[in-house]
Amino acid sequence: MTTLEGNNTEEKKTLSFVEQLIEQDLAEGKNGGRIQTRFPPEPNGYLHIGHAKAICMDFGAAEKYKGICNLRFDDTNPSKENNEYVDNILNDIKWLGFKWENIYYASDYFEKLWEFAEWLINKGLAYIDEQSAEEIAKQKGTPTTPGVNSPYRDRPIEESLTLFRAMNTPEAVEGSMVLRAKLDMANSNMHFRDPIIYRIIHTPHHRTGTKWNAYPMYDFAHGQSDYFEGVTHSICTLEFVPHRPLYDKFVDFLKEKDNQMDNLHDNRPRQIEFNRLNLTYTMMSKRKLLALVEENLVSGWDDPRMPTLCGMRRRGYSPESIRNFIDSIGYTKFDALNDMALLEAAVRDDLNKKAIRVSAVLNPIKLVITNYPEGEIEQLEAVDNPEDENSKTHTIAFSKNLWIEREDFMEDAPKKFFRMSPGKEVRLKNAYIVKCTGCTKDAEGNIVEIQAEYDPTSKSGLEGANRKVKGTLHWVSADQCKKAEVRIYDRLFNVENPSADERDFRELLNPESKTVLTDCYIEDYAADMQPGQYLQFQRIGYFMKDLDSTNEQPIFNKTVGLKDTWAKQNKG
Ligand code: ATP
Ligand code: MG
Repeated sequence: MTTLEGNNTEEKKTLSFVEQLIEQDLAEGKNGGRIQTRFPPEPNGYLHIGHAKAICMDFGAAEKYKGICNLRFDDTNPSKENNEYVDNILNDIKWLGFKWENIYYASDYFEKLWEFAEWLINKGLAYIDEQSAEEIAKQKGTPTTPGVNSPYRDRPIEESLTLFRAMNTPEAVEGSMVLRAKLDMANSNMHFRDPIIYRIIHTPHHRTGTKWNAYPMYDFAHGQSDYFEGVTHSICTLEFVPHRPLYDKFVDFLKEKDNQMDNLHDNRPRQIEFNRLNLTYTMMSKRKLLALVEENLVSGWDDPRMPTLCGMRRRGYSPESIRNFIDSIGYTKFDALNDMALLEAAVRDDLNKKAIRVSAVLNPIKLVITNYPEGEIEQLEAVDNPEDENSKTHTIAFSKNLWIEREDFMEDAPKKFFRMSPGKEVRLKNAYIVKCTGCTKDAEGNIVEIQAEYDPTSKSGLEGANRKVKGTLHWVSADQCKKAEVRIYDRLFNVENPSADERDFRELLNPESKTVLTDCYIEDYAADMQPGQYLQFQRIGYFMKDLDSTNEQPIFNKTVGLKDTWAKQNKG
């Protein structure tokens, strides 16, 4: 997981290996030519951009091959799951722009799975083990040395059946026993060494309440759910490669149970694995993301620094930019680390087409147009988006007192400084050409005000406006604007691949990942926008109004800068 993957546009025109496998199955007439996929989140957290990669594949393949994609909540561990997660997952998938055919839950199959488990016990293919988890683990062996049989392995079928039913009563003690499939304690695939398939959990389930006290393990629920639903291609990530033989084995048993052995190979789900998405300077582990939330190291699952879809939405990423990014990195059989800068480039690319251009000053200093009438406010015209031929326009107030960026003024400027300095002309965007005449300082020598004179004939759109000046600055009327808070974000983690770092992930957090600017000024048009509207603060970057905004206090999140300044900084 150390190689950085680039944008491979050449490869994009060819089919992904998953699509090739699907087309092969179609050509061979498997599953009667049906294509059915599923996206199977466990409702134990919020979706992140890694999930988006799986979503794009699951829904995308179904769409491309005229099949269906269902959503299935893999809810077999009640101790970590809840309905808040379910609701947010639904919301995020819709936001990404995908539609599921049906919503299913693994918990819909608890009855069927129970029946299947009893069938296995009756066949002598499963037994109740009353050892502790530690003892069972000790007997597992290693990939090169066989495991040791449990002393309970050959207990009578009737005894296992009675105990299995006892497992599902409120009196059963958690951890006192488990149901194990009786497979092969010497198999080189560790998942075949009598895997645990049921365990006791008393935490009420988000859907079935206290009806069940024993729950199937992932490996005893996932493939089976695929089979019950008629999934044809069960696409998942590479860590499930070693689980695949067991997945197939349980499907074989199910087919035997259903007397479907005649078409053992043709009519069944097939597991296909692709590489997980890993992004630089962040991490995808739900467990660790949950810890960040619970320990208040971020403001919540939707903190704009989080790699979650709700965080990215709040920050101002568009669903299209996320989909374009995923499309550009593609699907392979090799784990890799993708550069966050690629995602940001995709965001810029999309927002350039969508964002309304507005004016905001983040580090203000007063500019007084000395020859402009006191008290007058002019409404100038500004194009919403010059990238769009049919763009609308809006008005921006101009007056004697303006705010400009402090760093746009220099008293003793070098030759190439094309911004404001005494004696030089610059254009104020959408307004006039002004000539700086000087500045005022306080007792300590700090510049507190800049003065300039404007040329009334140079108004944008007029004849005189054609005069060439080198610099164009953004500005906001100090006489008609709103004060705003602006939140600037940087990488959440200080290291490129925090997941691969030995240190505790909390130590790797970037202490400067969030900077709050409270003294910003923004034109009214932008201040009154709703969260959800993509904005470009001209010359600064893309921004979106934050959900924390009030009428008195608009708050904006910086989505991404106009250029990848970060990469440059790092190269020194
Ligand atoms: P958990 O540790 O809770 O199992 P998970 O990230 O695997 O976390 P799931 O809800 O089980 O979360 O994932 C649903 C689907 O999303 C699975 O098919 C999984 O393979 C896929 N997925 C999860 N993380 C990524 C990722 N980083 N890249 C691509 N696909 C992912
Ligand atoms: Mg998982």
